[in-house]
Amino acid sequence: MRQYLRYLLTLLLALLLCQPGVLCAQGTWTVSELDGVEYVKLSDVWRFYRFTPKKGRPGCVSYGSGKHVVSLKANQQDFYVNNYRYVLSHPVREEGGELMISSVDMRKLVDPVLRPRFSAQNRLRTVVIDPGHGGHDAGAVSAYAKEKDLNLAVARKLRSMLENQGYRVVMTRDGDYFLTLQQRVAIANSVPDSVFVSIHHNSGRRAASGIETFTLAPQGTTSPFARSRRFDDLAGNNQDSENIALATAVHSRAIRSSGAIDRGIQRARFSVLCTIQRPAILFEGGFVSNPEECRKMATRAYQNLLAHSICQGIVAYNNTVCKPACKVASATSGSGRVRTSMSGARVSSYSREK
Ligand SMILES: [Zn+2]
Repeated sequence: MRQYLRYLLTLLLALLLCQPGVLCAQGTWTVSELDGVEYVKLSDVWRFYRFTPKKGRPGCVSYGSGKHVVSLKANQQDFYVNNYRYVLSHPVREEGGELMISSVDMRKLVDPVLRPRFSAQNRLRTVVIDPGHGGHDAGAVSAYAKEKDLNLAVARKLRSMLENQGYRVVMTRDGDYFLTLQQRVAIANSVPDSVFVSIHHNSGRRAASGIETFTLAPQGTTSPFARSRRFDDLAGNNQDSENIALATAVHSRAIRSSGAIDRGIQRARFSVLCTIQRPAILFEGGFVSNPEECRKMATRAYQNLLAHSICQGIVAYNNTVCKPACKVASATSGSGRVRTSMSGARVSSYSREK
């Protein structure tokens, strides 16, 4: 019975990873169970993507192709694609001299990042921007700024940039007032053909700094922020692939343009991400609790830079993942024949017009 289940899982994973036009005859996948979690051998993964050993991050095992270099380490949840940091749901394991990665990370993170594909469900015309906190809820506070004000400032700049690109924008709040998390989610879920971008700034130790982006933890995986195991029973959502693609597109651009410390694309079960029925991310633009970083975040120039990165990320996401028919008017102008990867690298000449 167990053998049969394993065979079924192997087959399922192979089917999930295969798509029309892609050769799938690159060997079979061996699925093993380690401490109740399904894992696949990384040697199978490298073979599937035709990856070869590369020079990557120091101290890491690195494999890649012309477009991507992936770096990782045994017993770590850090996972790097083209030097951008992701946090895996389960650590990389080493068994019998073989490195292994969990099947859920393979399906919900690695594959959608390495091979972003058109989504059948996502028809992006509108962006719902959610400036976190507001009113009596100031969020993080320091001598230089209140988080609620920084969130709104970046959100307003992002709105005008997106509108200039031809997108419709819905703001969950456009002033200094309080909204519950449920109200924010209700607004997002009422807008068809949209993505949801919640904008926050962080708080932590005085020395902590950098940018991090959160997406919902996939079904059955532990969120590092869960207060009890109970939260981990929650389902993922139908947008797992879109969530990670949107996070990659926005986060990589923000890191590249700001030069901020890359705290990674992380998983969470924040209330605002749990019940959303649209592709969604929560972006943390830096630490209010770090005096140097906060002084920078309070400037219009830095707010513009963050807003511009988020805008460019959303546009890239739409052009890469969304079906051609749903691209907004201004995004369809030009040749539209160059496809960029989620992290912004020009990957191939690619025609999908008409
Ligand atoms: Zn916040």
